Amino acid sequence: MGANVTDFPMLIGGEMTGSKNGQWLTSVNPANEQEIGRTPAADAADVNRAVEAGEAAQPAWNELTVLERGNLLRTVATRLRARAKELLDVEVADTGNTIGSLRADVEYAAVGLEYYAGLGSEMKGETIPASSSNLHFTLCEPYGVVGRITPFNHPILFAASRMAAPLMAGNTIVIKPAETSPLSASIFGEICREVLPKGVVNIVMGLGNPAGDALVRHPRVKRVAFTGSVATGMAIQHAAAESGVKNVTLELGGKNPLIVFPDVDLDAVAKAAVGGMNFSWQGQSCGSTSRLMVHESVYSRVLDQVADITKSLKVGNPADPSSQMGPVNSARQYEKVKYYIGQGKEQGARLVAGGNRPSGKDFERGYWIEPTIFADVQGDMRIGHEEIFGPVLSVFRWDKLDDVIKLANSTDYGLTASIWTNDLNTALKTAKRVRSGFVWINQVSAHYIGVPFGGYGNSGVGREEGLSELMSYVETKSVNIVLR
Ligand code: NAD
Repeated sequence: MGANVTDFPMLIGGEMTGSKNGQWLTSVNPANEQEIGRTPAADAADVNRAVEAGEAAQPAWNELTVLERGNLLRTVATRLRARAKELLDVEVADTGNTIGSLRADVEYAAVGLEYYAGLGSEMKGETIPASSSNLHFTLCEPYGVVGRITPFNHPILFAASRMAAPLMAGNTIVIKPAETSPLSASIFGEICREVLPKGVVNIVMGLGNPAGDALVRHPRVKRVAFTGSVATGMAIQHAAAESGVKNVTLELGGKNPLIVFPDVDLDAVAKAAVGGMNFSWQGQSCGSTSRLMVHESVYSRVLDQVADITKSLKVGNPADPSSQMGPVNSARQYEKVKYYIGQGKEQGARLVAGGNRPSGKDFERGYWIEPTIFADVQGDMRIGHEEIFGPVLSVFRWDKLDDVIKLANSTDYGLTASIWTNDLNTALKTAKRVRSGFVWINQVSAHYIGVPFGGYGNSGVGREEGLSELMSYVETKSVNIVLR
């Protein structure tokens, strides 16, 4: 174990604690493979303790006014910003994401808390004129304890901002962060412990199985919200169905198209194609536009420029603000990305940038891969339709509109799409025809608070980041009063 390995406990019932089983998992800095921290390896007994703590806290939490709950969430947001430096130091070392992108994550997490703090009063029922002899109305009531499982790529963002809607709706929560980047969740746990009544937020570390699985299967957790891979999402649906009737929402992967029509500013497109890959977190983004589809009349021009920009990206220490890309998050990610680069070569795509480990002393240890571009990709190649979740862009050439729409819709996914044209009619018609839950026209990557995000196809079920996320955490009770 390294010299600076710190323990990062979890939060259960207002206590920062290890697991009763005494087991810990070690976190590794992906930039140099040094051990940097330990988190508890929770099991089903720990999850049960967390759910019981959430159950005990929920009635009093739900009795607070919307304003009181909102004010507490705003205080969490303020403390989050106040501890940003400490969070960033830990998060950079634990994820490998560049510091600039993580600074934006901390801010967006705080904004998410504030947004739902203000939105609480919109959690409204309705009156329904179904009969003249009754007054019919609906109430919105919380589920109780919500289970929230998060992925490795934006740890603090997902832990903090995605607890806001369930808490505003009057639920308490058990959060299970990803095992390869769990450290910041412990600092976040300390903040929650200082601000919120005990048991309102519980954070359980550990592996997907047993910890995540136990949370999904817990008989008294009826509402499960998951962000992660399609494979795990399917396993969660299965486990949930085996253990009760549950409301499961899923935010899953993507293999997202960026469609370039020939009438646009090609310099702007090339810049956006690189930006849309989110290389500052190594392309490990569900929304990355990892399939670039360029009209054949401008294909070579755009491809050359995208390759030039990509080759100029500064790969290096993610804590250095001048670095534009760091290492991928884990050995598992590293092996997966290398595997897909091999598949691209084997299946006949043309490598035009990257493809290797960067050379030099700084890259001898750690999970480093150059930003990579394959040209002349076909839809039936594995890099043409499977999510790599890494710094690998696949570039396609197209001629006819119907063909590119078919290509865009040819994967099992349907998360984001980006359409580049100055013709409004073409833009809107294409936006209607792509099967994606979130469409950008002449832009990439941006999320806007209040605008619902989520996927078609295997990219998910449900929408987050807007009013629908808040409403997904309440059940509807219809009341019918006879008028005498
Ligand atoms: P993952 O599915 O491997 O793990 C996600 C979480 O699920 C982790 O906390 C993990 O411990 C847990 N888990 C694993 N097995 C489980 C099980 N059987 N039961 C319960 N929990 C289990 O995903 P990842 O590698 O951490 O993240 C990458 C994936 O997440 C990509 O596919 C990416 O596209 C997706 N993602 C989607 C969005 C979105 O908003 N749609 C956002 C970010 C990431």
